[in-house]
Amino acid sequence: MVRPDLCLEFANTRYWRGQATPTETLNGPDDLGAWAAANAGTRVERTLSAEEFERALALRETIYRLFDAQAHAKPPATRDLGLLNEALAASPTRTSLKRVRNGYEWDVDVRSGTALGLLAPVLWSAGDLLAGARLDRVRRCANPECGWLFFDDSRAGKRRWCSMSACGNRAKARRHYHKSKQDT
Ligand SMILES: [Zn+2]
Repeated sequence: MVRPDLCLEFANTRYWRGQATPTETLNGPDDLGAWAAANAGTRVERTLSAEEFERALALRETIYRLFDAQAHAKPPATRDLGLLNEALAASPTRTSLKRVRNGYEWDVDVRSGTALGLLAPVLWSAGDLLAGARLDRVRRCANPECGWLFFDDSRAGKRRWCSMSACGNRAKARRHYHKSKQDT
């Protein structure tokens, strides 16, 4: 079963985006293949070319910019929407479902074996999230150095941090530190 926020997970394969040197987890075609197999349920029998890999990373940045704009209630760059649409048009068609464990999955035809085939579930997730009823729940972590995108599925819809154990606690600790410094 593919998570509805798969597109955000993909965008987050590069993180600490506000730092001078962001952390990159996809350092080559093999990393992308492994990520797709583990998260999107797609695999190809060969290694992707450097060009396909670069295209996939460019697409990731397009997805990041689209949702980052959304998280700040800004209109997207026209170019980014165009790039996503191009990628959607070039990806395999979404025509049939298959049964997996206790649910269903789109049956992705990756015979073409391109990076776009591997990423089809990511592209569909981006389209569904953008065109869906809960787009206003897309957030970017309030820590400017972090830049992590997430889907806020909390009841109140007021989640600000990617996860309390990382950025939220760090911000709290910092506030506490400043406060105790002023007190002394
Ligand atoms: Zn964060």
